[in-house]
Amino acid sequence: MSFQTDTIHAGVSPDKAYGAIMTPIYQSSTFVFEDIGKHRGFDYTRSGNPTRAALEECVAALEGCSCAVAVTTGMAAITTVLHLFRTGDEIICTDDCYGGTARLLKTIQEQFGLKIHFVSLRETGEIESYITPNTRAIWIETPSNPLLNLIDIAGVTAIAKKHGLLSIVDNTFLSPYNQQPFRLGADIVVHSTTKYLNGHSDVVGGAVLSNSPELDARIRFLVNSLGTCAQPFDCWLVLRGIKTLVPRMKEHERNARAVAEYLDRHPKVKRVFYPGLASHPQHELAKRQQRGFGGMVSFEVDGAIEQVNSILRGTKLFALAESLGGVESLIEHPATMSHASMGAEHRAAVGITDGVIRLSIGIEDPDDLIADLSQALA
Ligand SMILES: *Cc1c(COP(=O)(O)O)cnc(C)c1O
Repeated sequence: MSFQTDTIHAGVSPDKAYGAIMTPIYQSSTFVFEDIGKHRGFDYTRSGNPTRAALEECVAALEGCSCAVAVTTGMAAITTVLHLFRTGDEIICTDDCYGGTARLLKTIQEQFGLKIHFVSLRETGEIESYITPNTRAIWIETPSNPLLNLIDIAGVTAIAKKHGLLSIVDNTFLSPYNQQPFRLGADIVVHSTTKYLNGHSDVVGGAVLSNSPELDARIRFLVNSLGTCAQPFDCWLVLRGIKTLVPRMKEHERNARAVAEYLDRHPKVKRVFYPGLASHPQHELAKRQQRGFGGMVSFEVDGAIEQVNSILRGTKLFALAESLGGVESLIEHPATMSHASMGAEHRAAVGITDGVIRLSIGIEDPDDLIADLSQALA
């Protein structure tokens, strides 16, 4: 089936009890055995749940892989994957990853003795100099948050394969509609389903996806052992959100393009970060490895923090809030909000200045979004 048809139908079949067309919420911790050693596919919700199974089958179909496991948050997905490693292992991670990912990687480095190399994966030529006999994985996040830098996924996964390393891709920013890392050589994909997959800012969730019998089994074992699994009601909400993924992503992109082009012409804006602009240094790579350019736009203004603050306080439609990927537009300041946990030194190293503002473009009327930014910038 096509991607769009899968968003509606994958994993979903009429309920066996009453024929309900929408997947029921099996809000039950345990399931009655039919006889000793015999149950109907589920015994305890930490190990498996029919509502969660429907979501997992749907997300696996969208990413084109053999296994998806739904977990409580995006960070739970990342936590689960990090349990594949042991003390002494080394991971090479993109240097401008999500702030929460950087914080967790630094914490496990200190507490459990994994070694993390934060490296710019944009220069694929430099990656091999960081590979040692202890290197186990390369952690990719593209486009990056908030600067929308791209990594050539196929280029990096080819290096990983050559050295026997796992390639892990955080695909939250584009969703499987706009980017499909397994087709580009990834071994594991993680999602914060909180963002575009659910799309309505009413749940936090995550997913870990894999595409080999060995990894599928290890990840299922870890989720059951760690207890990072998602709750039935949350799974139902995400499954419901996914049904409108395609039309939402098209509207996010149409609006993001309009806003990016508007900001690009504005005299107070020093720089716009949006891979859909022909001026973006990696526009060609974006066209090659992505279906579309997504709904995130960042921009940099010159000057003092007062100017940044007056823009952040000045919008009426854009709400001042972290997170992204919902139907409503948000504005935020990475240096003091989403990327505060990264630390000033790490931010400076990757170029997230205090003048950078990030927008999550919703699906409102684009003229209203531009009018709102226009009065805030004035
Ligand atoms: C939000 C986000 C996460 C963390 O997800 P939560 O659901 O908030 O735990 C991880 N990676 C990226 C790229 C994100 O945007």
